[in-house]
Amino acid sequence: PTRIGVLALQGDFEAHLKTLTELGVEGKAIRLPEQLQDLDGIIIPGGESTTIGKLMIVYGLQEILQRKIHEGFPVWGTCAGMILLAKETDNALAGQPLLASMNIRVRRNAFGSQRESFETDLSVPALGEAPFHAFFIRGPAVEWAGPEVEVLATLDDGRIVAVREGNLLGTAFHPEVPRAQGQRDSRFHQYFLRIVQGVKG
Ligand code: GLN
Repeated sequence: PTRIGVLALQGDFEAHLKTLTELGVEGKAIRLPEQLQDLDGIIIPGGESTTIGKLMIVYGLQEILQRKIHEGFPVWGTCAGMILLAKETDNALAGQPLLASMNIRVRRNAFGSQRESFETDLSVPALGEAPFHAFFIRGPAVEWAGPEVEVLATLDDGRIVAVREGNLLGTAFHPEVPRAQGQRDSRFHQYFLRIVQGVKG
């Protein structure tokens, strides 16, 4: 069976675990390095990227995650999680710990105070024709992406908000948040599960 970890140091990990359960996949809350062993992939949730990054170092997870990513381990970062996957952020000088694995530059809180949080229908061709209703909660945006990075979705103004690089996936919004009770669009979770299956063979 497929086993997906959800990094559970801080942030919105419960809703990801719930989504995985709904999809019939075993999800596991991960806090310690030894818990990474039997996983097929991991989700880094939204939350507070500096807090998650610092705890990642305290718990001894940063280096082992970087090593596993190097070996092809699938990782999906949502919102703060995408910041952690990025090679560069605008607040790198402020001591932001990163996994620095995706060739993207990310701007934290890219939508400022006026549009801090909003929801919008995104066109995501990789998920099919129906738009994906995305919740942005003080989200980042991708300012720059390397040539090896596949852009999965942009906003109307052209800002990049979903990317894939090999077995790494990044979304600036919160796909784990249901639109209404019991109404969750789990297509991004399924997309990540397909990446995981591709690695498992
Ligand atoms: N603004 C948060 C950060 O920079 C991310 C917000 C989120 O994950 N919802 O860490």
